[in-house]
Amino acid sequence: MTLASYSAHSDDFPAARLRADFPILQRSVRGQPLAYLDNAATTQKPQAVIDAESAYYREINANIHRGVHWLSEQATAAHEGARERVRRFLNAREAAEIIFVRGTTEAINLVAQSYGRANLGPGDEVLITGLEHHSNIVPWQLTCAQTGAVLKVAHIDDRGVVCMDEFRRLLGARTRIVAVAHVSNALGTVNPVREMTELAHQAGAVVLLDGAQAIAHTPVDVQALGCDFYAFSGHKLYAPTGIGVLYGRRALLEAMPPWQGGGDMIRTVSFTGSTWNDLPHKFEAGTPHIAGAIGLGAAIDYVQRIGLAAIGAYEHELLAYGTALLGDIPGLRLIGTAPDKAGILSFVIDGLHAHDIGTVLDSHGVAIRAGHHCAMPVMERFGVPATARASLAFYNTHEDLDRLAQALRRAVEMFVR
Ligand code: PMP
Repeated sequence: MTLASYSAHSDDFPAARLRADFPILQRSVRGQPLAYLDNAATTQKPQAVIDAESAYYREINANIHRGVHWLSEQATAAHEGARERVRRFLNAREAAEIIFVRGTTEAINLVAQSYGRANLGPGDEVLITGLEHHSNIVPWQLTCAQTGAVLKVAHIDDRGVVCMDEFRRLLGARTRIVAVAHVSNALGTVNPVREMTELAHQAGAVVLLDGAQAIAHTPVDVQALGCDFYAFSGHKLYAPTGIGVLYGRRALLEAMPPWQGGGDMIRTVSFTGSTWNDLPHKFEAGTPHIAGAIGLGAAIDYVQRIGLAAIGAYEHELLAYGTALLGDIPGLRLIGTAPDKAGILSFVIDGLHAHDIGTVLDSHGVAIRAGHHCAMPVMERFGVPATARASLAFYNTHEDLDRLAQALRRAVEMFVR
């Protein structure tokens, strides 16, 4: 059977076999096999990605775009080949709409500083939601402070679902930008981003989607979504750290001023003024993370061989299994119970601090995250200082979740009873 033919039959999904592609998953931690359930923070890397990155340094390392020699041509071709892979992966119209950045955070700051500062004035509004990561809040606060614009928030309900009535109500004649997470990292909520984009466009606003937690879990088609900007980080998609993507519609990117100056982003420079390079280079000042981009291209090839629809179906089934297991732990409360969720189990346990949960799990070789997950307003909304969060990838198995549940029972026995 080819990997692509696993389709939506999660029973057939070869998670156990795919684990063998990830060297780190073979190692033990604290004397036990590693159950890695911190994938929302960062994913592990398959050998294919590690090899692609090291082959660049071993065989074709050179700076790109400017070189006239063979190595530079090879490196440039590999880097631009990665851009084309991203274009296809997102179904963008053209490779010039794919800007390489450090990650989601830098992508959002780019839009906030370039598009935001050029298009916002006093009294204009930026609309976000109550489940955003700090990196989709703070850049807008900075831009609002610089321009006199106002930040509006559509809040979430007790399940962690955005109140669409409030979202609709807040969209008005002054709304210029709507910036929304595709999937929440703290709760797992999948936002109805297509509908949100349509509503925002009807109000005349442009839409940025933060795809950090969606990109590895669901197929993303920027043309079908209709969004104006889409941001994601490579390291959440089995690719290296330090590389990410901002997709932007050409017409908007063309009209936006550069936000960082330096090499590669210019056409001409003189002491009286400079002119800008074509897209995407206008937004890529300086030597980029060439190896990272090549690694990202390899990661995209890797996940496409499995298929994101198959990955999403399998993870969905794992999530249901994990949700049922956690439901049986005494005193455990799930934070985030939206009907449409992806890959995240966030929870608190009566009488146990999230960090203590994390420490006990770690002693069992189970890696999760404890804290506010860079989403303090979400913690405030649920009245908790922190949650413990297990987050899934396609290489996780039912056994990983069994071990999570067993270790949680031990923690409750040790500390609560
Ligand atoms: N948005 C969301 C929803 C995230 O989960 C994250 C990473 N936790 C980010 C933005 C920021 O991503 P990065 O740190 O890779 O820039």
